[in-house]
Amino acid sequence: MNESADIVVVGGGPVGAALALALQPSALDVLSLEARGAEAAALTAADERPLALSHGSRLILERLGVWSALANATPITRIHVSQAGGFGRVLLEARDADLPAYGYVVPYGELLRALTQAVQQRLPRYRFGARVTAMHTEGASAIVEYARDDGIADTATAPLVVVADGGALVAGIDIRTKDYGQTAVTARVKTEAQHGGTAYERFTSHGPLALLPMGANMALIWTTTPDHAAELAAMPEAAFLAALQSAFGDRLGLFRGADARAIYPLTLKYARHVVVPRTVLIGNAAQTLHPVAGQGFNLGLRDAWELAEEIIACEPEWLGQEDMLERVRRRRQVDRVASIRFTDTLVRVFSNDAPLLRVARGLGLAALDQLPLLKTLLARRMTFGARG
Ligand SMILES: Cc1cc2nc3c(=O)[nH]c(=O)nc-3n(C[C@H](O)[C@H](O)[C@H](O)COP(=O)(O)OP(=O)(O)OC[C@H]3O[C@@H](n4cnc5c(N)ncnc54)[C@H](O)[C@@H]3O)c2cc1C
Repeated sequence: MNESADIVVVGGGPVGAALALALQPSALDVLSLEARGAEAAALTAADERPLALSHGSRLILERLGVWSALANATPITRIHVSQAGGFGRVLLEARDADLPAYGYVVPYGELLRALTQAVQQRLPRYRFGARVTAMHTEGASAIVEYARDDGIADTATAPLVVVADGGALVAGIDIRTKDYGQTAVTARVKTEAQHGGTAYERFTSHGPLALLPMGANMALIWTTTPDHAAELAAMPEAAFLAALQSAFGDRLGLFRGADARAIYPLTLKYARHVVVPRTVLIGNAAQTLHPVAGQGFNLGLRDAWELAEEIIACEPEWLGQEDMLERVRRRRQVDRVASIRFTDTLVRVFSNDAPLLRVARGLGLAALDQLPLLKTLLARRMTFGARG
C-alpha cells in the first residue's frame, strides 16, 4: 500500500516523538514510523541511562504537555567540576544564574515512556512496529519504504521527511565519525552522604566521570577505555564500588551499592549535511555526541522544536522545498556546531594525562571559579544552548 502525508517522521525516540507532538497544533498530516513495537517501547523504558535535561528542555517539554508526567525528575541545583590527581575546581550554583535548577535528571526510559503515552493518546497516525528500510526522492516527493511487524512492506510519500532514527539509517547520508576510544559505564549508585542536588563532574586520565542526583540515589556515567569499561561492567559489586571510590574520592562518603550497570561505546558522529533533498535530520541522526556535558538530547530537542516552528510558519506548498530546507539549516547551524565543538573540546582537553595540561586545567578551573560572569555564561550555555 502507498499512503501519503504532509510529513513523514522516521523514528519515534525522544526526539522524533517530541517533533510529532510539537506539530500537533498544526493542521498538517504527520505520519510517524517507529521501528519498535508498542510493547518494545515499554521494554526500552527499562533503559536507565540518565539524561540531564536542561532548564530549556524543561520549558519545551512543558509546552508539549509531557513535563507533568515526569514526576520523579530530580533537580540539579549545583554543579561541582574537578580533576583527579590535580588541583582546581569549579562550583556552579543555579541561584547565581537566576535559575531554579540547571537541569533535571530523568532516566531515558522514563522520558520515552511519558512521550510514548502522549503520542498514543494524541496522534492517530503514529505507527509502532514500522521499520524504515529505504528512502529516495522522486520529483517533489520523498518516498519512504518500511516493513511492518506483520512482515508486510509499505511505502509512504510526502514532500518532507524528517529523519530522527538516532543515526541508524546511515545509507546515503554522509556521516563523519571520530572514535574517542572510550566507553561509558552507567549505573545507579547508593552513596553514604546525600547529594543535596549536586551533580559532580570529575575528569580522570581515562575520561570524565559524572555522578548526577537521581531520586535518593546517584546516576553514574563513567567514561573510560573500552577494556576497562568491560572489566568494570563484569566485576562483582564490591570490586566495582572500590574502583569507583578510588576514581571519585570520598566527597560523597562511601559508595554503598550499584545496580543497573550498562555500557555504551562512545563515538562522535555527525552528518555532513543536515538537510538533503526533501529531508531534514534531527537529534542523534544529525549528531551523536559524547555524553560528557549532557548535551545530546537537549540539542536534539531544540532541533525538533525549532524545526516544528519553521514547518508551522511555512506555507504548505513550500514544505520540503530548497528555500525552506536552507532556512532550517541556517537556523540550527550555530547551536549545532557550537555544541559539537564544545563537547569535543571538553573530551580532548580533559581526557589527557599530560602533566603540563593537568596543571593548565587546574589553573583554568581555579580561575573560572573566581569569575562569576564567565561562570554564568557557561551555565547559560549548558542550559539554553549556544544562543541562550
Ligand atoms: C550514556 C549516555 C548518557 C547520556 N546522557 C545524556 C544527558 O545527560 N543529556 C542529554 O541531553 N543527552 C544525553 N545522552 C544522549 C541522548 O541519549 C541522545 O541524544 C538521545 O537519546 C537522542 O534521541 P533520538 O530520539 O535522536 O535517538 P534515539 O534515542 O536513538 O531514538 C531513535 C529511535 O529511532 C528508532 N529507529 C531506528 N531506526 C529506525 C528505522 N529504520 N525505522 C524506524 N525507526 C527507527 C529507534 O527504535 C528509536 O526509538 C546520553 C547518551 C548516552 C549514551
